[in-house]
Amino acid sequence: MTANIQGILFDKDGTLFGFSDTWADWSVSFLTSLSPEDHKLRLAMAEMVGFDWDAKDFIPGSVSVNASVDEQCVLLASVHPELDAKAIEKIAFTALQDTTAIPVCDLDPLFTDFKNRGMALGIATNDFEQSAVNQMQGENVHHHFDFICGFDSGYTPKPEADMILGFCEQMKLKPSQVAMIGDSSHDLEAGRNAGVGLNVGVLTGPAKHKDIEHLADIVLPDITMLPGLF
Ligand SMILES: [Mg+2]
Repeated sequence: MTANIQGILFDKDGTLFGFSDTWADWSVSFLTSLSPEDHKLRLAMAEMVGFDWDAKDFIPGSVSVNASVDEQCVLLASVHPELDAKAIEKIAFTALQDTTAIPVCDLDPLFTDFKNRGMALGIATNDFEQSAVNQMQGENVHHHFDFICGFDSGYTPKPEADMILGFCEQMKLKPSQVAMIGDSSHDLEAGRNAGVGLNVGVLTGPAKHKDIEHLADIVLPDITMLPGLF
């Protein structure tokens, strides 16, 4: 099943970086900056995107876990009395620059290993492309990647197949030669829609095994187990 794989496309949050650690803190400060005074509005926005304000954590399978940034901004704007989706998107991007993402493992040896095996490597995130680039540069692993795309890179976001097909096109690979690695049902639905050769779920995001196993060819605890597959 895996002998044919020549390219690996990773989701970012919950896959390369711990989801809750990084994003729960960010969500609290982001929603606070959208509504510094009005706690009721903050709660309404949190509910709209599936963030549990009291627990300061994400509701598995919710919009905040799966959807792209621009989709979430549209939802937030629908309850915000003053800001439209574009204004909210700007605030989101600014807030992201202060976020410190925590990688799920030492990323450099892992990606070096894959590159040494001749694999093409990519990232397909529903976050901003520039955030992904900045994060990979911050970890000093940017040079391993042949392809990095976000919701704003011109592809239809996951769960559509578009980002994966874009990776295939640029790398001159067939979907059957690509492995999609992700923590959420959106990632694995995208993999299915694209017809990837291997669809791998990881459990470093909010989703539980039962939430993603029906979409994955295999579910691993985390990306450190990947080299054993190839
Ligand atoms: Mg994810």
